[in-house]
Amino acid sequence: MTRTVCIGECMIEMAPTDITGQFQMGFAGDTMNTAWYLRGLLGAEHQVDYFTALGGDSASRQMLAFLRAAGLGVDHIVQRDDRSVGLYVIQLDNGERSFSYWRGQSAARTLAQDKTVLEAVLKDADYAYFSGITLAILPPEDRARLRDALVALRAQGGQIVFDPNLRPALWSDPQEMRDEIMATAAISTIVLPSHEDEATWFEDGDPEATAMRYATAGAPTVIVKNGADAMFTYDCGQMAWHDPATVKSVVDTTAAGDSFNAGFLASVIGGEPLSEAVSSGAQLASKVIQSRGALVEMS
Ligand code: ADP
Repeated sequence: MTRTVCIGECMIEMAPTDITGQFQMGFAGDTMNTAWYLRGLLGAEHQVDYFTALGGDSASRQMLAFLRAAGLGVDHIVQRDDRSVGLYVIQLDNGERSFSYWRGQSAARTLAQDKTVLEAVLKDADYAYFSGITLAILPPEDRARLRDALVALRAQGGQIVFDPNLRPALWSDPQEMRDEIMATAAISTIVLPSHEDEATWFEDGDPEATAMRYATAGAPTVIVKNGADAMFTYDCGQMAWHDPATVKSVVDTTAAGDSFNAGFLASVIGGEPLSEAVSSGAQLASKVIQSRGALVEMS
C-alpha cells in the first residue's frame, strides 16, 4: 500500500471535432494526465490522489466529478468560490494543432496558499509528483511554501518526483524559470526531464549533460526522456543509456512525457529495478503516441 499525491493544474480542453466550429469538452493537464495513467496502472491497494484548487462553479464541479470517476483521491482539493478552472482551445490550421489558453486567473494558481493545507495533503505520502508547470503557475512565495512542504516530506522518507516540463511562456523570464527549476531539482529525489526542451533552455549538448546537471544540483536519480532517441539515466552514480520502444507511426505526441512518467513511476512503486521502470515508461508512451488525445484508454 502506497500513497502518491500528484500536484498541479487540470484544465478544461476544447478539442475540435469533425464538424467545423463544434468542439468536444474534456479535461487535461500534465500532472493530471500522469495521475490518470498512474491510477490505471496501479492496483487498488495503491492510492493516487490529485491535489489542486478548483472554483465553486459548475465547470469546477464537472472537473471534480471527472477526477473522482477516474478513481483519483480528491479529498484534499481546495475550493475557491471566487475563481474558476483554466481552459484551452485546440485549433486546427491546415492540420497543424495550435493551442490558446485562458488560465491566468485559474483557481489552481492558489493551490499552495496555505501551509496547513499542504502539510495535510502531504502527510504520510510516499510519493509527491509535480512539474515545472505546477511551479510556474504559482506566485513566488507560494512556490517557496510548496518547496518547504516537499522538503519536509523528503525528510520523512517520501520520494519527491519532479518533471521540469519547461514552459517559458508561463514564467516572467527564462532566467527565473532556470533558477526555480534548478532550486526545485535540488530538493527532489527523482527528476524526469525531456532532453529536447532542456537543450533549448539550458544548452545541454546531450542527454548525459542534462542528467549530470540535475545530479550535480542534488537529485539522486535523473531519467532523461528523449523523443524517438535513446534515453539516459543517472541513479546514485550509475549511468546507462536506454532505447525507446519502436513506434511504427506516430499519431499524436500529446502526453508522451506525462504517460512515460506514469509508466516509470508505477514500476518504481511496484518495486521494479530502474531499467525495467524506464522500459515500462517507454512502452506506455509508445502506445499513447499511437492514438489521438492526451488520455488514451488502455485495454
Ligand atoms: P515530452 O512529451 O515531455 O516532450 P519526449 O518527446 O522526450 O517528452 O517523449 C517522452 C518519451 O516518449 C520518450 O522518452 C520516449 O520513450 C517516448 N517517445 C516519444 N516520441 C517517441 C517516438 N517518436 N518513438 C518512440 N518513443 C517515443
